[in-house]
Amino acid sequence: MVNTEIVIIGGGLAGLTAGIHLSQKGFAVVIIEKNEYPKHKVCGEYISNEVKPYLESLGIPIQNAHPTSITQLEFATLYGASLHQKLPLGGFGISRYTLDHMLYQKAIENGCNIIKNTVETCVFKEDQFFVTTQNQEIYTAKIVLGAFGKRANLDYYLHRTFIQKQSPWLAVKNHFQGNFPDDVVGLYHFKGGYCGVSKVENGRINICYIAHYKDFKLYKNLDDFEKGVLFKNQKLKHIFETSVPVFEKPLTISQISFEKKEPVSAHILMIGDTAGLIHPLCGNGMAMAIHSAKIAAEASIDFLQYKSSRATLELAYTETWNINFKARLRMGRSLSAILEQPILTLIVLQVAVLFPFIIKQIIKRTHGTPIS
Ligand SMILES: Cc1cc2nc3c(=O)[nH]c(=O)nc-3n(C[C@H](O)[C@H](O)[C@H](O)COP(=O)(O)OP(=O)(O)OC[C@H]3O[C@@H](n4cnc5c(N)ncnc54)[C@H](O)[C@@H]3O)c2cc1C
Repeated sequence: MVNTEIVIIGGGLAGLTAGIHLSQKGFAVVIIEKNEYPKHKVCGEYISNEVKPYLESLGIPIQNAHPTSITQLEFATLYGASLHQKLPLGGFGISRYTLDHMLYQKAIENGCNIIKNTVETCVFKEDQFFVTTQNQEIYTAKIVLGAFGKRANLDYYLHRTFIQKQSPWLAVKNHFQGNFPDDVVGLYHFKGGYCGVSKVENGRINICYIAHYKDFKLYKNLDDFEKGVLFKNQKLKHIFETSVPVFEKPLTISQISFEKKEPVSAHILMIGDTAGLIHPLCGNGMAMAIHSAKIAAEASIDFLQYKSSRATLELAYTETWNINFKARLRMGRSLSAILEQPILTLIVLQVAVLFPFIIKQIIKRTHGTPIS
């Protein structure tokens, strides 16, 4: 049995950020992550600049990785209507392979104990957590942060309601060599989904799309699906046809759920996608994961320094989480519901292209301000 102050389940963006923050303040942190580092992940890899000041305060030298600086959005509908818009705050392009690995190295440097294993259970008893991994190792802690991503075995274990419902969304990602402007994030609509295109730190183009399972199952494989569905958008056809894939096989994930989740479950403070996944079309999930890690770390510090009771900790975290993210997630769910209806999607997107202030409003309502 290993005793510590904080156990973080999952070492993705949210888990590693919280671990870095808490260890920087001198707390003993164990992060349990089931995968090895570094690793490619399905993600659009465009990250809002709102996280930059906070990452700098944690001593994470993002600039050393030479991310692209992204200042413009290009948006194109299936039938060729398109718009270019300056992004109010902008962002940067960095692969998850590099970003997560940078955070991992910082967490190690700060003294976090990173364990490679899968957490199977987490029991709260007599004001203490007992976290058990696949190899039956038990970790006890005063605080547990749930950072296990959008969907995990632990969601079943904790009987979370969202996990009972099937989700129709799947996503595909690959890196490509080719030509695409460094400063643009492209969002290209196709029937039943959209595709995000932007450059990352090593000059590669990240192409990541989200599609509806019912459209996908009409085709034999990804290649046929892309040719039959994505290529109907001429911009996408051109990008795919003039680029060369880097990975032998694209990465895929399914069952991507945008359902409501609880920010606190079984006394665990949930952060990142474990508390709620915003539709990727909003392009802000990574910033929200990092921001929620900060909020949870700060609330945990108050608790560990005996400045608040557990009930106050849970209430304060839930309230702050709701203030920062609830409305953004609601907006993401509305977009997801629209995308499920092809004719409505087309109408909404055509109108949005004609009246760019609609896009501006969506960006405003789904993004935050710089996190200090
Ligand atoms: C298709 C798609 C495109 C996206 N594009 C963008 C984008 O362009 N910009 C943006 O800002 N956001 C984007 N997002 C959202 C973004 O990827 C997520 O919000 C972000 O990864 C959340 O980070 P996280 O730390 O919460 O989860 P993750 O990064 O998924 O980390 C969770 C970690 O927990 C680990 N884990 C799970 N279960 C266990 C267990 N039982 N024990 C131990 N470890 C466990 C996993 O291995 C994983 O490493 C996109 C999402 C999708 C689906």
